[in-house]
Amino acid sequence: MEIVETKYDGTVIVGTHYRCVGSVRGWCGVRHRSNHAAIRCRERDSNDCASQGGYSDRVVCLCDDDGRVKGHPEYDGNRC
Ligand SMILES: [Zn+2]
Repeated sequence: MEIVETKYDGTVIVGTHYRCVGSVRGWCGVRHRSNHAAIRCRERDSNDCASQGGYSDRVVCLCDDDGRVKGHPEYDGNRC
């Protein structure tokens, strides 16, 4: 399934799924099919980290089948 997002600047990014990825926390391990599911997952991780006194550096990424990051919809998309 192809997912198309349009950035604020009009650039179109295309991927197949969303992932929550952080350089410290790593990938959540789930290929989310919707932006909202990915955001919920990222928020859950954020809350888990906060309850232990830390924070999550994961961000929602739109990725292709190979896991390459195509964009960050929460920051440069227009649907959130
Ligand atoms: Zn996730």
